[in-house]
Amino acid sequence: MTSSFSNLSLAEPLARAVAEMGYESMTPIQEQAIPVVLTGQDVMGAAQTGTGKTAAFSLPLLQRLLKHESSSTSPARHPVRALVLLPTRELADQVAQQIALYAKYTKLRSAVVFGGMDMKPQTLELKKGVEVLVATPGRLLDHIEAKNAVLNQVEYVVLDEADRMLDIGFLPDLQRILSFLPKQRTTLLFSATFSPEIKRLAGSYLQNPVTIEVARPNETASTVEQRFYSAGDDDKRRAIHQVLKTRGIKQAFIFVNSKLGCGRLARSLEREGLKTTALHGDKSQDERLKALEAFKSGEVDLLVCTDVAARGLDIKDVPAVFNFDVPFNAEDYVHRIGRTGRAGASGLAVTLVSGSDARLVADIEKLLKTKINIETLAYDDERPQGRFNEGRGERSERFERPERFERSAAPRAPQRGFRPATVSRDPFFDKPYEASSETVTAQWEAERSPAGRGVSTHIKPKRKMAALFKPVEVPPVDA
Ligand code: AMP
Repeated sequence: MTSSFSNLSLAEPLARAVAEMGYESMTPIQEQAIPVVLTGQDVMGAAQTGTGKTAAFSLPLLQRLLKHESSSTSPARHPVRALVLLPTRELADQVAQQIALYAKYTKLRSAVVFGGMDMKPQTLELKKGVEVLVATPGRLLDHIEAKNAVLNQVEYVVLDEADRMLDIGFLPDLQRILSFLPKQRTTLLFSATFSPEIKRLAGSYLQNPVTIEVARPNETASTVEQRFYSAGDDDKRRAIHQVLKTRGIKQAFIFVNSKLGCGRLARSLEREGLKTTALHGDKSQDERLKALEAFKSGEVDLLVCTDVAARGLDIKDVPAVFNFDVPFNAEDYVHRIGRTGRAGASGLAVTLVSGSDARLVADIEKLLKTKINIETLAYDDERPQGRFNEGRGERSERFERPERFERSAAPRAPQRGFRPATVSRDPFFDKPYEASSETVTAQWEAERSPAGRGVSTHIKPKRKMAALFKPVEVPPVDA
């Protein structure tokens, strides 16, 4: 039973912004976290992007900051009061956009700083004064060192996606940043898992935190139809064409294991008439944002990406996910397929298995505790001469180094200032919680009953990992 935002007695400017966003009821993380954050207690929350987590911490935080609202133009009247730290530029940008929307009817200012961008516009923004600063750790330290950001009046700090920040190796940066903050403050930590490292971090920096847990989207993709097709390296693109055609799929993510393979595959698919873009760690920040926008707006249909580049993207409800390469890490398989099949919508995850993938498939079987049936895909067309063979270099790049988290992998991009909140053109991606609305019911969801109105499409009951493999009653591709 979800409750309405009206029960919260949010201040009018915040309530107005929430109403304008079209939110009707709170998501589970919001229901649990907002009242606690409103009391100023520390929170240790297990929740991922897509659960409504940003509003869960930012609405109560903004509400508590309202007492500092000021129309003064003096920067001194707008010190940083809340700091939100995130591991990636994309996430920082997304969270900052959301906060700007929630705060739009208040006088509170917000800004975002992340690496890969010119520091100057960020510096100007900071010098004017902002109450809410969203940042990635490395760039924030640059601004602290340059004395652009003064943090001695911070009252709230949010460590968002804390597990990923530790994965990337941000712990020393976080420790330094936290050393600049007043001891007397509220600390909110959100993480997908409560690993021993996360618990240690919480033990060092949180005081008597209230623990809040909601279902992890990745554990709940029971509506994903998972197919494994045997396909030699030279047949993989042909298999993608076949599945897209047979299933009438309009948009999909295609995962590959290497950056080089990513670019090559995208180029080949584009040549073969599919609107495709590539996303990997060697792309500049600007290129990555453009690729993301192009996919969200429907300008491109296929997003070929590496695991690292795909993490943290606010795109989850794609109708299909292809594993062009079987992931090296079985857990990445779960992350990849977690992009599709949400909230009762059917999703399709197709893994293309070549002769040398036996061990990787066995790892997935072990993780999911189920036997994987590798099928043979039937092709409509006669094998086109040359068309799918011309790019024989497009193989699974098995012997290349897989992409790993690198702190400053992306080359510097041209200057780009703080982006004001924008709404992307495709309502499907912006309003994932309005599954009953005609305008946002995607074609691929039409056959299945949508989630109840007001309920997050990302919120699912907790399921065991093995439940991922529950078969779904959908005819096979080659039926
Ligand atoms: P987040 O998990 O914070 O990244 O949020 C994912 C998406 O859910 C964003 O597009 C939010 O605008 C949206 N959202 C957050 N809370 C709600 C809610 N209570 N009702 C409907 N949509 C929401």
